[in-house]
Amino acid sequence: MVIPTNTAIPVEDLKRQWQQIEPEIMEAVRRVLPTGKYTLGPELAAFESEFAQYVGTTYSIGISSGTAALHLGLAACGVGPGDEVITVPNTYVATVFAISYCGATPIFVDVEPDTFNMNTEQIEAKITSRTRAILPVHLYGQVSNIEAIVEIARKHNLKVVEDCAHTHGATHHGRFAGSFGDVGCFSFYPTKVMGAFGDGGMCTTSDPAINEKIRQLRYMGQRTKYNHEIVGFQERLDELQAAMLRVKLRYLDEWVKQRQRVAAIYDEMLTGLPVQIPVVASGNEHAYYLYTIKADRRDELKQYLLDHSIGCYIVYPYLVPETGAYQSLGVGRTGIPQAAQDVDKILSLPMFPELLDEEAIQVCNTIRAFYSD
Ligand SMILES: *Cc1c(COP(=O)(O)O)cnc(C)c1O
Repeated sequence: MVIPTNTAIPVEDLKRQWQQIEPEIMEAVRRVLPTGKYTLGPELAAFESEFAQYVGTTYSIGISSGTAALHLGLAACGVGPGDEVITVPNTYVATVFAISYCGATPIFVDVEPDTFNMNTEQIEAKITSRTRAILPVHLYGQVSNIEAIVEIARKHNLKVVEDCAHTHGATHHGRFAGSFGDVGCFSFYPTKVMGAFGDGGMCTTSDPAINEKIRQLRYMGQRTKYNHEIVGFQERLDELQAAMLRVKLRYLDEWVKQRQRVAAIYDEMLTGLPVQIPVVASGNEHAYYLYTIKADRRDELKQYLLDHSIGCYIVYPYLVPETGAYQSLGVGRTGIPQAAQDVDKILSLPMFPELLDEEAIQVCNTIRAFYSD
């Protein structure tokens, strides 16, 4: 693959990945389509068992999207109307929508200054008699302080649902994201560390009752066909997506290593500039779904990079409690000063496994040029 430098550097580029895996993906497509079996078949069953084995849980359940995985994961943990779920404000709105879909109320805790993840010191002050679960988001590819979160949850008899949408392949003390809480919820949105060719998601759990409940919820409330014991949903992962994701799972470790290669270049070359590079907490292997810096004069830097044909974006540009859907809670930025400070400084740089060394170097040189102007 020859990509000349001094051309545009995209923030993500799925076409390069396609060049690498096209034959195997097409083989999977050709295997599935002639069978006539397109939902709840052998590919999904095989993918579920392979994914559970990878993450280190007893079960995994294929779901139609990461949002639905969060919704069904929370519902299977018994979250319902009147309950409260503790989560973070600096996430994709889907995390919080999932709480709302259950009829529960999101309670926001602030994040740590260095890792962008849930500040565990502040959790207990938010627990009330209505709290049912804690929903940490492992942001940008790094696992939260999950052992502390699980310990607090056990002490107060709460469930833990992990939002692993950014952390396929990320570990803490050698254990994979999605294996710590009662349920782990993954998204296979195309640009995620491991993405489908469309939408997809997965729940992981080692609890047999939760496994059974999620399976029932994802397919119309049935345990046996046409026996709709509870109100369920139509939220299965398709056979075709499962077959193609099985191919991608085999590349996951290698792709995470490639992301770490890019991150190492950024780490080294951005040191000494007025930007804070990502801090990797002790015991963590960062999967670098995103490489997000905190930058002085962020908006000017963003424009400068775009003017120099370097992709970059702000993930996420608004805090969830201040978006229209949650303004009625009246929380705004109250009690979340760290997240409020970060949101005006964060910038995510080009990051994908096929990004070339020379492209990463060009990104850094351009940032260096901006600050020396
Ligand atoms: C992508 C994402 C989701 C939702 O996943 P979809 O597959 O797009 O529904 C949830 N939480 C976070 C943090 C995400 O980034």
